[in-house]
Amino acid sequence: MDPAPSDSDDTDRRLRERALRVTPGGMTGHLNAALLPGGYPQFFTDGDGCRVRDANGREYIDFMCSWGPVLLGHRHPEVEAAADTQRRLGDCLNGPTPRFVELAERLVDRIAHADWAMFQKNGTDATTLCLTIARAATGRRKVLVARGAYHGSAPWCTPSPAGVVAEDRVHLLPFRYNDVASVDAAAAAAGDDLAGVMVSPFRHDYGVDQELPDPAFARHLRRLCNSRGAVLMLDEVRTGFRLHDAGSWEPLGVRPDLAAWSKAIANGHALAAVTGTDSLRDAATRVFATGSFWAGGVAMAAALATIEVADRSGLVPHLERVGRRFRDGIAGQAASHGVAVRQSGPVQMPLMLFADDPGFEKGSFFCQHALARGVYLHPRHNVFLSLAHGEAEIDLALAATDEAFAAVAQRFGRG
Ligand code: PMP
Repeated sequence: MDPAPSDSDDTDRRLRERALRVTPGGMTGHLNAALLPGGYPQFFTDGDGCRVRDANGREYIDFMCSWGPVLLGHRHPEVEAAADTQRRLGDCLNGPTPRFVELAERLVDRIAHADWAMFQKNGTDATTLCLTIARAATGRRKVLVARGAYHGSAPWCTPSPAGVVAEDRVHLLPFRYNDVASVDAAAAAAGDDLAGVMVSPFRHDYGVDQELPDPAFARHLRRLCNSRGAVLMLDEVRTGFRLHDAGSWEPLGVRPDLAAWSKAIANGHALAAVTGTDSLRDAATRVFATGSFWAGGVAMAAALATIEVADRSGLVPHLERVGRRFRDGIAGQAASHGVAVRQSGPVQMPLMLFADDPGFEKGSFFCQHALARGVYLHPRHNVFLSLAHGEAEIDLALAATDEAFAAVAQRFGRG
């Protein structure tokens, strides 16, 4: 039996109809529920810990974490208290609040490569600013980027061709993640115009198996940038704070010159940051980097509290523990139902894809069944764990996925 679509209760459907009349397509970009299997809700009313509730009043154990920003759980009390205190004092003033300096100091202390920090709102702001600083510092234009990597929605990096002209990307040169020879070929094509390399800490492209970084690849990028006077930029927007407190490539011993952060750094409040080394301080000073809301104090107060809670609670080991429990549980269920799956990436931001599933039919069917049983997963994008996911919630989720696997085995057969 296919799960009943959630619009049998029609608040979500009515909201979609109204949205279609007054906003293009009803919803655009990654949050567009039209990109998800049938039955997924578009609208949500609230979230608490590791649970979210849709506009039809249905509650789910949430494995999307707002696509990454929720690190400690929805509405973490300490983060919200800090944000409320700052909100009562003022958010958007004629200049930044003291939280700006406190947070920059905190990031410089915490992030291994960072001698300074600058703040923005979204991940795209941060990745775009990294490129601008790299070009300002080097006076060069070419930037190497991994083919298929997502660095944001600006014309230079959006996955959609709509409204993009060739000139927006003319100075980007592609390489294949973890492929040193392809990096060298792209660097050779850049010649003496190489400004830098933008790369994510691991490969987390949409709809394909995730790939952890080969340490030799990371070291190669560092050496290349050193020898060519180019800037190594690490896109930590999705990974930031989930893999390692001091930066995701710390375990590899490779430090970037610039890093872009957003999503999880303020536990759901709108904030992004660029961190950089002293060698880029002058270039960063010269760039006209600003936005009406970039210095807002509320998100910075939230970020300070987020870091405080993360440090105190052993966040990364917790994510690894519950992530491992989820991955092992999924692996055992898949085996017992005779369904072949591939799990990839770090356990704290895992991706599961089905074998022989080029059109994601099995993945979509599985996710629909999990959703019908109160578990919000995604068939193509990595999911996320948070501090609010305890062992009990993982086990509840696994009870639902076990039934979803049974449904997949019944519909598609074993294998
Ligand atoms: N870089 C990466 C690796 C991302 O995952 C994202 C968002 N999914 C971005 C950049 C862009 O961030 P934002 O959507 O906040 O602009």
